[in-house]
Amino acid sequence: MTDCLFCKIVAGKIPSKKVFEDDRVYAFEDIQPKAPTHVLIVPKKHIVDIKEAGPDDAEIIGYCNLVAAKIAHERDIESGYRTVFNVGPGSGQSVFHLHLHLLGGRKLSWPPG
Ligand code: AMP
Ligand code: ZN
Repeated sequence: MTDCLFCKIVAGKIPSKKVFEDDRVYAFEDIQPKAPTHVLIVPKKHIVDIKEAGPDDAEIIGYCNLVAAKIAHERDIESGYRTVFNVGPGSGQSVFHLHLHLLGGRKLSWPPG
């Protein structure tokens, strides 16, 4: 996707603060953090969101959560963190390339707003 913000970040065409990268995912600091840790874990494959994902995407969707758990462990926020896929504009989704938010490092209220 040539006009996708996160495809450009994954490709290094737009700068980002990298947290983790392998052959399947790229993770970077959110530019407007909502918590002391606010990392986005992005599949390198362009997927719009969870509702547009297919059976072939199940593994990468789960893998994003495992990468989030690894980052949470490294940052010592395992006493309470949250992973979130926003789905659709009504949830606040603003970038239409699937991404998992990892939020932690502060008390997280429930339910989220
Ligand atoms: P969502 O609202 O779920 O689509 O999440 C998109 C997230 O991307 C928001 O939390 C934004 O702050 C973040 N964001 C937008 N542009 C950038 C960027 N250039 N670098 C890092 N994060 C970004
Ligand atoms: Zn994309």
